[in-house]
Amino acid sequence: MRVILYGAPGSGKGTQAVMLAQSLDLRKISLGDILREEVKKESSLGQEVKSYMEKGLLVPDELVSRVIEENIDSTGFLLDGYPRNLAQAKKLEEILTKKSTGIDAFVYLFVDEDTIVDRLTKRRICPSCSENYHLENMPPKKEGVCDSCSAELIQRKDDTADVIKKRWEVFSEASEELLDFYKQRNKLIEVDARGDKDEIFEKIKKTLQ
Ligand code: AMP
Repeated sequence: MRVILYGAPGSGKGTQAVMLAQSLDLRKISLGDILREEVKKESSLGQEVKSYMEKGLLVPDELVSRVIEENIDSTGFLLDGYPRNLAQAKKLEEILTKKSTGIDAFVYLFVDEDTIVDRLTKRRICPSCSENYHLENMPPKKEGVCDSCSAELIQRKDDTADVIKKRWEVFSEASEELLDFYKQRNKLIEVDARGDKDEIFEKIKKTLQ
């Protein structure tokens, strides 16, 4: 199965991507994680993308499509964070067509702006294994420490109120034509992503199956 998980920042796609990849035995490709790793390594790509990410802006399409081309093959995958605009969707279609394949579903997790602000300002992540937490709904067992690998949790630099606002604007601008693109291809699945993460997970799994 080849699935794209799409939603605004804070829609829970990172959390759902981990759960779905495990449950459906799919390789998870998270573009945000890959880019953060490059920034951490201070690679040349990392240096190029850092300032865009800190401001909540999209990294230029040529840079991200290169990353995608290197990471995608014709086997099953769960793509989190790509495509994020129409140009990227067309590019992905071109890459997959060259590999004689295509996607099976584009899952859109929809949420309202208030839920997003709450989720992102209270989100903490593990810089070592990328595990996500929420201070109230999904806290770590020990305050400030990752359950999986015991690293100290951090707040992402782009999870501050002004950057969140920018990221929401960037998302809203691009989403309509992207959703239309997949609707026209009969691949769009819309899931209400407010509420409990396990219930949302079951909803997504049911629609995919
Ligand atoms: P995420 O972890 O998915 O919220 O992504 C964090 C940041 O990485 C975004 O705010 C962008 O700066 C960058 N990024 C992730 N995916 C993409 C993409 N498909 N196109 C451009 N920039 C991206």
